[in-house]
Amino acid sequence: MSGHEAGYGSRVVPLDLVIGVDVGGTKMLAGTLSRDGTIGRTIEVPTPTNGAEPFLTELASVVEDLMADGAGAIGVGVPMNIDRKTGIGLRAVNLPLASLDLVGWLRERFGVPVGVENDGNAIALAEWRLGAARGTTDAIALGLGTGVGGGVILDGRLYRGWAELGHMVVVADGPPCQGNCHGRGHLEAVTSGEAAERVAVELWGEGADARQLVKAASEGDEAAREATDRIGHYVGVAIGSLTNIFAPDVFVLGGGFGLAAWELLREPALAAARREALPPADETLRIVPAELGDDAGLVGAGLVGFEALDGER
Ligand SMILES: [Zn+2]
Repeated sequence: MSGHEAGYGSRVVPLDLVIGVDVGGTKMLAGTLSRDGTIGRTIEVPTPTNGAEPFLTELASVVEDLMADGAGAIGVGVPMNIDRKTGIGLRAVNLPLASLDLVGWLRERFGVPVGVENDGNAIALAEWRLGAARGTTDAIALGLGTGVGGGVILDGRLYRGWAELGHMVVVADGPPCQGNCHGRGHLEAVTSGEAAERVAVELWGEGADARQLVKAASEGDEAAREATDRIGHYVGVAIGSLTNIFAPDVFVLGGGFGLAAWELLREPALAAARREALPPADETLRIVPAELGDDAGLVGAGLVGFEALDGER
């Protein structure tokens, strides 16, 4: 690719640039990504929330725009659980999307390899390859945002099953979960940004939010501190249980709320995790903050695109 103008008769398919699309509940962030994780041009648009048609139209338009930069594959991270045998997106908790064959649809439209992954899985892949879990063999990422997502790296590979870590029960018969989820006492119900907002509203009334809770707790407000301690405790309970199943080298905690509240959550989370984890993991387990921040979803989607490009999926 170096030194030549892109003026060939046949389309040059570069092996070192892909498109990543991070589909969130409120916005879609798309961009080109190089193999070393460098993000090129990006486009951000609101995620259409009125059905599959408008969603696909917007996705196609964003991808088409970026294809002009000469990408060789497309990777997409979506908040849906994916049937890993067929690659079909089954259903989204917080978007009106179901039974979507995004891989087939994008491949047919753009004629390049396509990979689609659950957004939590994509973020785990990004933090493992390029972020806080670099160099480990087994790692688990947990993101506390509007909902709670996660992903699992096992034996040096992304586990491509559901890994809906946010819908693990941490309070038996506890409060109802969010969105389309009819479960109770799930991690998401008690540790998400929305859960934190519900606590803030209980403390200070309508209009209070998670940001206010974090601020008040940081400044020593007792009720706020109790609330963030409780949230951290539940995160730790989940981490303790996950340790007993997978014993990963490291847990990466991220997400908008998870990072904003990191200093408040780390100690109660570690204490609870150590109480629940079997020895010697009770002493050795590690929880670290995510490194890639708001870019993790886009980078992860792009890495999924590279896996598709390299024939790894
Ligand atoms: Zn749930």
